[in-house]
Amino acid sequence: MPIDATLPYDDNNIFARILRDEIPSQRVYEDDWAVAFHDIMPQATTHILVIPRGAYVSWDDFSARASAQEIAGFVRAVGHVAREQGLVASGYRLLANTGRHSGQEVPHLHVHLFGGQPLGPMLA
Ligand code: IMP
Repeated sequence: MPIDATLPYDDNNIFARILRDEIPSQRVYEDDWAVAFHDIMPQATTHILVIPRGAYVSWDDFSARASAQEIAGFVRAVGHVAREQGLVASGYRLLANTGRHSGQEVPHLHVHLFGGQPLGPMLA
């Protein structure tokens, strides 16, 4: 069920619980600003989710409320993960579903990182 991106942050959403290590994840990267882990239902050869450590419902919430330092740290982390995964030469796709029409399911901002194969027109 897609979420309403205007709702307040829910501390018990699944990615908040992954951040707190209450639920296992296959982490590939973490730093002060972000955590990256494999999507549980991959839609491409490489399908990683990158999430900020801060409590933000969506891209809208993050872009409105996060500090410049958090935004820079998060954007750098996404780029770092893509480079570390060896995706730059072949190319990759980033996607941040936001709210009902996008189909966003988890109410903690996540950027999908797809790669490792030709991606076609749409994923996620
Ligand atoms: P959304 O549709 O953009 O909200 O994407 C949510 C993504 O989270 C989907 O691709 C799910 O497969 C993924 N997902 C849901 N639960 C977990 C989990 O526990 N670990 C890793 N990925 C998850």
